[in-house]
Amino acid sequence: VKGISRRHLLGAAGVAAASLAPNALALPRSQVRAWDVFTDVLVIGSGAAGLSASIEARASGVSVLLTEFLPVMGGASTISGGVIYAGGGTSLQRALRIEDSVEAMYNYLVAAGGHHQQLDKIQRYCEDSPAHFEWLMDQGITYRDRLSELRVLPDWRESLYYSASELDWPHRDAASPVPRGHVPAAEGSNGGRELVNALLSSAKAAGVELRSGVKASQLVTEDDGTVVGAVLDSIGQRISVRARRGVVLACGGFVQNRTMLELHAPELARCSVPFSGAGDNGDGIAMGMAVGGVGLRMQQGAIAMSLREPEEVVSGLVVNANGTRFIAEDAHQGALGHAISRQPDGKAWLITDQRSSYTVDQDERPLVAQANSVGNIAEQLGFPRGSLQNTVAYYNRNAANGIDPQFHKAVDMLRPLQGPPYSAWDLSSGNAITRVYTLGGLHTTVDGQVINGLGDNIPGLYAAGRTSAGLPVAPYVVEGLSLGDCTYFGRRAGRAAAGV
Ligand SMILES: Cc1cc2nc3c(=O)[nH]c(=O)nc-3n(C[C@H](O)[C@H](O)[C@H](O)COP(=O)(O)OP(=O)(O)OC[C@H]3O[C@@H](n4cnc5c(N)ncnc54)[C@H](O)[C@@H]3O)c2cc1C
Repeated sequence: VKGISRRHLLGAAGVAAASLAPNALALPRSQVRAWDVFTDVLVIGSGAAGLSASIEARASGVSVLLTEFLPVMGGASTISGGVIYAGGGTSLQRALRIEDSVEAMYNYLVAAGGHHQQLDKIQRYCEDSPAHFEWLMDQGITYRDRLSELRVLPDWRESLYYSASELDWPHRDAASPVPRGHVPAAEGSNGGRELVNALLSSAKAAGVELRSGVKASQLVTEDDGTVVGAVLDSIGQRISVRARRGVVLACGGFVQNRTMLELHAPELARCSVPFSGAGDNGDGIAMGMAVGGVGLRMQQGAIAMSLREPEEVVSGLVVNANGTRFIAEDAHQGALGHAISRQPDGKAWLITDQRSSYTVDQDERPLVAQANSVGNIAEQLGFPRGSLQNTVAYYNRNAANGIDPQFHKAVDMLRPLQGPPYSAWDLSSGNAITRVYTLGGLHTTVDGQVINGLGDNIPGLYAAGRTSAGLPVAPYVVEGLSLGDCTYFGRRAGRAAAGV
């Protein structure tokens, strides 16, 4: 790599000043007077996707420059739990005598993936999952041979758990439940940091050139649409980078960009907590679209709302502004968060009786009504007359017989709601703590090539991680699939960009 030196940062002049329209996200090659920096592959963004892409591109023997616009590398991946959804018989599963197969994993992911358009991505991911897990360990990520009985992120002493909805209806009927959430053995739930540190060390050792504090702002294209480089901004200077083989966009999603969020995903925009690093402002997606890339599933997000702790609370009822139930209260946090966001105005409440009530003050979901009768709760919340009473009466009748014909709540959580005081806890997307990040992004092939509106690949352009529309879909019930997708398809994009 002919890297970015101090001279380039201070004196870059390769981009014609007249061409620098402030909002332009793409620049014709003809307007680049001279390139400031040359590399084979340019990777933009240093999260799990960008690091995996750069390691693999470099392993192909080509020069790689990775740029990150924040001062610190790692993005949202660093603050994550580091859980990776892997299976099909990984070495950790085998060590714990967990039986799994590629077919079982595929069947589950297809069932949980709703209407995923790209079954070839799911297929490759499952087939290569055991080998991909070995690759992660080869980068220096460590795991412990211990299985957690819990269905929430275990502490660092246990490295395998049911992170997804395998045990929930209807998925438990679609495929045999198998634990596939692989958690790095990092003290204090710092799995993401362990993951990123390992990938960073690997990238450095392999000879990837890493530059932080440098923001990519424009892709450079030839007349025929081929992406041949990018323009970077650093401390007010503009640097033109010629990428001889390809550019990989790995800039994360767009949950920090209010304008994009309100435009593409209004249901996500009203969720209270954007859950990501500060860099997820849609740059990669916007740059890709500016050269013809299409967005896929742009309205979808991972929205988390869990009622599983303490367990007793789940025997309450979740209702919308019509006073009706719409989901099993013990649903996976991704299913519950998603379902709430789709109710009228994103509003929902948890109704508890004395037994199912929280016993301590709730910061995450405010207590908004308390009364000695269900009718009085309904009145305080402004529900249509009689609706909540009907909902509770129907639910109670069935719960007394151990069934939930509408939503199949687990039998051990079913019991009639009775015994004042009754309480209502606000679960609305905008009022309760509702964590969200985006899942939509650039449409890509299985090798990360960005696809345009006509279905053709854009030469020279690749995307991975949350800049692309990968395996994760809404409702996001497969925890660990985002980082699994970032690392696996990041690697594929890096290899394809290197083109060797
Ligand atoms: C607290 C938390 C816990 C989570 N836990 C898990 C988990 O356990 N398992 C899981 O699968 N998922 C988890 N997630 C989600 C997961 O972390 C993200 O989906 C994933 O890290 C996205 O990786 P990425 O590489 O696509 O983007 P990021 O890790 O966000 O990296 C993108 C990088 O690109 C940089 N960038 C952006 N624009 C530019 C630009 N113009 N020029 C240069 N650089 C740019 C950003 O600054 C950022 O550093 C969690 C998320 C959070 C917030």
